[in-house]
Amino acid sequence: MATDSSASPVARAQCPYCGVGCGLELKAPAEPGGSCTARGDRHHPSSLGQVCVKGATVGETLHHNRLTTPLWRARTDQPFEAISWERAFSLLVERIQATLASKGPQALAIYGSGQFLCEDYYAANKLLKGALGSNNFDANSRLCMSSAVAGYARSLGSDGPPCCYDDLDLADLVLLIGTNTAECHPVLFQRLLKRRRKGAGPRLVVVDPRATAASDAADLHLAIAPGTDLALLCGLGHLLLQRGGVDQAFVAVHTEGFTELETLWRAWEPARAAAVCGIAKADLRQLADWWCEAAAALSLWSMGVNQSREGTATVAAICNLHLVSGQIGRPGAGPFSLTGQPNAMGGREVGGLAQLLPGYRTVSDPEHRAEVERHWGVAPGSIVPEPGLAVWQQIEAMERGELDLWWVAATNPLVSLPSLDRVRAAVASCPLVVLSEAYAGTETEAVAHLVLPAAQWSEKEGVMVNSERRVTLCRAFREPPGEARPDWAIFAELGRRLGFVEQFNYGTAAEVYAEFVALTAGRLCDSSGLSHQLLADHGPQQWPFPGGTEPGGGQERLYTETGCDGRRFPTPSGRARLWADPPLGLAEPPDAAYPLVLTVGRLLGHWHTMTRTAHVARVAKAHPEPLLEVHPHDATQAGLEEGGMAQVRSRRGALLVKVQLSARIRPGTVFLPMHWGASQGELACEANRLMHELGCPISKQPELKGAAVALAPA
Ligand code: SF4
Repeated sequence: MATDSSASPVARAQCPYCGVGCGLELKAPAEPGGSCTARGDRHHPSSLGQVCVKGATVGETLHHNRLTTPLWRARTDQPFEAISWERAFSLLVERIQATLASKGPQALAIYGSGQFLCEDYYAANKLLKGALGSNNFDANSRLCMSSAVAGYARSLGSDGPPCCYDDLDLADLVLLIGTNTAECHPVLFQRLLKRRRKGAGPRLVVVDPRATAASDAADLHLAIAPGTDLALLCGLGHLLLQRGGVDQAFVAVHTEGFTELETLWRAWEPARAAAVCGIAKADLRQLADWWCEAAAALSLWSMGVNQSREGTATVAAICNLHLVSGQIGRPGAGPFSLTGQPNAMGGREVGGLAQLLPGYRTVSDPEHRAEVERHWGVAPGSIVPEPGLAVWQQIEAMERGELDLWWVAATNPLVSLPSLDRVRAAVASCPLVVLSEAYAGTETEAVAHLVLPAAQWSEKEGVMVNSERRVTLCRAFREPPGEARPDWAIFAELGRRLGFVEQFNYGTAAEVYAEFVALTAGRLCDSSGLSHQLLADHGPQQWPFPGGTEPGGGQERLYTETGCDGRRFPTPSGRARLWADPPLGLAEPPDAAYPLVLTVGRLLGHWHTMTRTAHVARVAKAHPEPLLEVHPHDATQAGLEEGGMAQVRSRRGALLVKVQLSARIRPGTVFLPMHWGASQGELACEANRLMHELGCPISKQPELKGAAVALAPA
């Protein structure tokens, strides 16, 4: 593969781990076959040279266990045989055409990833939604950010975080709710700490059932019971009404629905909210006082909010607070979701969920479908109006025998989905499971029939977008191993072989990107002024970046008075919507048989299912094994001791894990990291096996943050 950086020892790219999207500067290995080295890119405006252990060690992860040739087996109890790409494409074409003839396009589904570059997302969506007539393209952003997508769209009229990282330097009050920012978005957390060390604020409030490194640094830690975020926000709203925290002018001009919201908030007096959340009333009042005093209040959240049966409602509740108090669309203020995956943002813009089309469009809107069909050069009516199957619906469709082909790409759902035993049984019944993957030996490979070796980040050119809408061209700086190919090229080749020659006639990733950004013109996420060339010449840029924008001229914040949206929200009325959703609590609350709540999460050094980070010695040393965090009171009740083995049992199964006593977790709640899947041998600890699949009815995001469990000595 030609790479314009192959002659140079240095390339620049966005970090391929979390959605902070730090800039990395890569150096080629000193010796042939060695690891390239990574360090923070001081020129990247989002991170200014900062980097955490994951980004700093990414060079060590690129060589291990790589897939180099397509693999095939007719049955999953057989060994794989290496096959040619020609045979792999023939198999795919034959099986797709047979499925279209027998069951129709709804029997096809793709489950992609926030690890995709925008070009990968775009080609896959065009193939499935445009060419083949199935909207069943979903991505692992469903497990991560789909409540933020749905919440923003519901409240503000469109997806799209309105804030930027500079707001961390400008806020008087930062509320971290449902995010262990210190471990999951460490570079942003360090930015906050640096400011606080200088005595320059901001006040920091952390809402989390566990004490974490984030809460250690906070002025106030609200250790709420799992599943009570929405009740907390209602109680805060009640106090805003009492204490004059409502910006009457902003509410009157820029919002609708205040009367209903006021009625809801009035019902959540502090005593009620504090009792439901299990916190002191005084702490809730303190937060309300600080919110009312703050000239600029910023809320950051992540999966603790999103992975909930009321994830969309909670995101709307965060937006409610900012809208009602006028804390949005100005420096240092706003509701700011932090993305988990490096390009979850780009995926949302490209239409990488089952209900979406490129440019923050939706499949259910006839105008949106027509615009995209014209752009894609497919016949009117090619895109079906019904949202496709979200990932859990794909699992249920397999259980009913309705899916004949499930194509997983750049993700490892056999670790990351809830209720894993049910997932394994469903997938086993699917006639053809295809896996596009860079690494060998994942848990999902164990259930696949056809494995396609994918070129990964560092081996292909393409674009990623981080949480602050910053677009970075990730340069290819090494050759893919063996016959590995970029995902976009695999989908495009298949599209041509299925007869869509014109539609997939791309020579380079830059051509794919150019076609995508043209579709964003006039939309909130307008990136039509961007190109690979501009990003290569001028570095990362923020959108909105309409055609004709000068480099560096993207918009830092959305919904400002002076910005291109002119504080007009993209709703029919131009006003943001306030929502009065009553709190419901956990979908599976604890009871006599399962008296504790298990919550799962991430550790600083490891990335998701450890496909990469398991091979980094420094990380493995820092996090050698999974540990169950248990409050001493709960441990005594269950007869457990520090370092002993516990059986953790939910309605879906049981596992054994070593106990770590900790007074830092709320009594009644236990914590497990989600990283160690079945492929980790003796260390395997499939936390998500215990979790349930019930989720938010709007965003379809499973409630991975709370399941009822019982403990016993093993
Ligand atoms: Fe990469 Fe996130 Fe660490 Fe930045 S904070 S280096 S994006 S993992």
